[in-house]
Amino acid sequence: MSILDNLQLIETRIAAACEQAGRKRGDVKLVAVSKTKPADSVIEAAEAGQILFGENKVQEAQSKIPLCPGHLHWHLIGHLQSNKARIAASGIFRMIHSVDSEKLLLALDEYAGVPLPVLIQVNVSGEGSKEGCSPDQAAALIEVANRCSKVEVHGLMTIPPFTPDPEKARVHFSNLRKLRDRLQQETGTPLPELSMGMSNDFEVAIEEGATYIRVGSDIFGGRS
Ligand SMILES: *Cc1c(COP(=O)(O)O)cnc(C)c1O
Repeated sequence: MSILDNLQLIETRIAAACEQAGRKRGDVKLVAVSKTKPADSVIEAAEAGQILFGENKVQEAQSKIPLCPGHLHWHLIGHLQSNKARIAASGIFRMIHSVDSEKLLLALDEYAGVPLPVLIQVNVSGEGSKEGCSPDQAAALIEVANRCSKVEVHGLMTIPPFTPDPEKARVHFSNLRKLRDRLQQETGTPLPELSMGMSNDFEVAIEEGATYIRVGSDIFGGRS
């Protein structure tokens, strides 16, 4: 299967999940996760019409993006250390999905030259990855972001613990949505975006309200 074939299949799956959930197709955006893959793969996906791409490492993105067409949009989806905040905020990324500390928010705000949309990464399950703030910390981070001049919080992101059964991820996706609803009430901050769902479980994430799904291996093939 070519990258074009894969993208067409993903599109069919997204449309079916939206239909199932009674949602509009336009409300779900596909982030094509090109981490570890060469610029040639990105170019192939771009030729198939894909515009939005996700990378998980600042340095890899920094070397790959100049080799790719200039009209593409890039999001940083992976863990970010404050010492990389300057590059991450330099304009190469249109959104950062993985902000999980006050230190990082303030560093991004210091270096961003133009408004920088971010998502707060929350570890809703409390298991697995150490990345992401706890649900209890999210409100405080949103308040910090609201006092920033460049950083703008647009919503929440999560990576549930890996499970081969996508239904097991459902509770985590629905918990992220419920947390978002509560934080909107508590902080008065609009949080329209929910970044959740990967190759294995994005249909379930769409049913639970995802607005960004992050899909890598089902588009570009497995990673070694
Ligand atoms: C790698 C990665 C993805 C994509 O995972 P696949 O299972 O290959 O679709 C999504 N989100 C994040 C944060 C990632 O690091």
